[in-house]
Amino acid sequence: MEFALAPPRQRRTTPASPADPWSAPALRLVCLDIDDTLIDFTASSSGALAAVLGRDDLWPLWEAVTDRHVAMVVAGDLDYAAMHRTRTQSFLAEVGQPVCAEEAASFERRRLELLRRSWRLFDDVLPCLEWLRAAGVHLAAVTNASGAHQRTKLADLGLARFFDHIAIAGEMGVAKPDPVMFHTVCLALGCDPGEAVHVGDKLDTDAIGAHDAGLGAVWLDRAATGAAVPRGVHVVEGLAELPELLVCEFARVGVPAPR
Ligand SMILES: [Mg+2]
Repeated sequence: MEFALAPPRQRRTTPASPADPWSAPALRLVCLDIDDTLIDFTASSSGALAAVLGRDDLWPLWEAVTDRHVAMVVAGDLDYAAMHRTRTQSFLAEVGQPVCAEEAASFERRRLELLRRSWRLFDDVLPCLEWLRAAGVHLAAVTNASGAHQRTKLADLGLARFFDHIAIAGEMGVAKPDPVMFHTVCLALGCDPGEAVHVGDKLDTDAIGAHDAGLGAVWLDRAATGAAVPRGVHVVEGLAELPELLVCEFARVGVPAPR
């Protein structure tokens, strides 16, 4: 595969090598969020919840309760192992069905079993990952979730083979948008943040977080909301748009990085 590279526009990092002092920044690392970026998590998760509950109108409340509990995890007040159970207990209490810890755990087991059976990739994921591998960049999955859950998901869907590094908040004790999350990934793969791009569906957690950490930032707006974004944040409405964006914004896509 050949890539049409745009001419260098401006120098934003140190030169790639002394022999090539005027080059534009190389893109050596592409980080990708997982849920709702690669995997249609909202469809699977809302479907599994509806199946367990026998009703389909409570997804917004589930999301709100989950966000509240994830914030506690990010703040260090709760660990991921406990989060699922306490989140479910809180949710069921809010809908007038209070349960004990054991019942909450049973609810979670049924929900996760259904969820695991319904995971699916967005159609544009595999072509994009194949392109990125062919382009010679490092690939990292960077996700805010529990380790076992995400690793199972990546394995089930055959995605693990694409990634040089998998960074999971539940295993690291830090989560996006904390710059430590992004910088740890760059360090692990020997890249400067200025040589990396992060792509994700959450404008604040993924795109703005990555931008603030010094990475290139791409917001994946699959719903094509047209929402305003801060200066420096790029927007795509599907992963099929990503190769062109990277080629145009990072003139030296695919400069080999040490593996
Ligand atoms: Mg996501």
